[in-house]
Amino acid sequence: MTENSEIKKLPNDRVIKKLSEFGEGFKYHHENYGASFITAMRDTGGRWDFGDLVFHFPEHFGFCYGVDKAIDMMFETCERFSSPPVSPHHTGVVGSFAAGGPIPLESRETGGGVSGHRIFLTDQLIHNPTINDKLKEKGVHYLKRDLHNLLICDELRSGDIVVVSAFGTDFRDIESLKNRGVTIVDSTCGAIINVWKRVEGYAKNGYLTVMHGKRNHEETRATVSQAVKKGGDYIIIENSLEAEELAQVIRGKTPEADFIKKYPQAVPENFSFDAAVCKMGMANQTTMLKGESLRIQEILKKAFQDRFGETGLRERFKSFDTICGATQDRQDALRNLFNKPLDLLMIVGGFNSSNTSHLAEIAQGAGGGFLTRPYSFYHIESVQDIMSRDEIRYRDPQTGKVETRRDWFQKGIKNIGVTSGASTPDVTLLEIIRRLAILKRAS
Ligand code: SF4
Repeated sequence: MTENSEIKKLPNDRVIKKLSEFGEGFKYHHENYGASFITAMRDTGGRWDFGDLVFHFPEHFGFCYGVDKAIDMMFETCERFSSPPVSPHHTGVVGSFAAGGPIPLESRETGGGVSGHRIFLTDQLIHNPTINDKLKEKGVHYLKRDLHNLLICDELRSGDIVVVSAFGTDFRDIESLKNRGVTIVDSTCGAIINVWKRVEGYAKNGYLTVMHGKRNHEETRATVSQAVKKGGDYIIIENSLEAEELAQVIRGKTPEADFIKKYPQAVPENFSFDAAVCKMGMANQTTMLKGESLRIQEILKKAFQDRFGETGLRERFKSFDTICGATQDRQDALRNLFNKPLDLLMIVGGFNSSNTSHLAEIAQGAGGGFLTRPYSFYHIESVQDIMSRDEIRYRDPQTGKVETRRDWFQKGIKNIGVTSGASTPDVTLLEIIRRLAILKRAS
């Protein structure tokens, strides 16, 4: 079978949105990143006595359903459509090629595979170095973005497959990909799509979207684009301080143009608005700290109230808590973990993972008061960050900088809390626990 004839077997210009659309025989690849031992921790009250150490786990940690889905779709795409060898469990033709039908597996008759397709990702699939390294090993390519943060699709050709990351992507990217005639595997998390619907609704009803999120985060960029898609505009607010500044604009105390000039990345190009007549609807990146999102909501609400009164507030300001349940569960569970007598807390997840960074901020906000001794907490990515008993690499949640610290593992440490962000595999936690146990034995 020639490469060209194989390529014809994949329906082009098609968007796959669910794992089930691959047809029968798809795998749950996220299970490869689990560790039965860690799963047992969840089932046994989250405590593990190991020699002189006691590890404490929160009720919720690690992979969320959105990450599970993205990993399954991504690795299934690689397994079925990238270069051989193809897994032996994928044999037999399943389904039809009709639009909307399942994606065919390789042909049993020919013994060949629907393989050899180039696979691209729009962005990092999730913010986790272990998973991203694994995808690079599999030969997955990453598309680049232009100055407007839109995908550069020139290198794509018919027959390629492009996987949209769990964060989603700008609606204009999807249009460009469709124009290139590629197959799109869309792993955007359903919780994010729900926020998009809210933002679209704002735009359709003439509301300016105010988004609490990180301006450079893929999810935030994708979400605000949904407002643009429906003819609306947006302002991205990163924190309460910026919300206070916007509130002054709403009150008519600061000119709109001053705010836009100060935060050009917060708004679309050539954007302007008139606070005297505008209506605003608030949404937030799903992984933000709920407390801060609610604070921002209150700040803006108060500004509308001050300027337009109660009736004006009702007509001109809408808000909706769009923090996802999985993020909230992990944040609440960490707060509960502070009731344990911890000497040390390890927070595990990508340094660019929004939800993991917020877990570290929660630990920092607790001021170390939850620790029984003057020890510390560390946000690390993987076991490689624990260089030795004398040296650890970690991300400081206050500065965002990656630092190293010496003499970090004190001899008297006994109770260690361990948690992980929604994009961190359990196997990474297990490696870290093993490493800590070894350090303790050697101390
Ligand atoms: S953290 Fe929430 S929004 Fe993000 S991928 Fe997971 S479930 Fe989806």
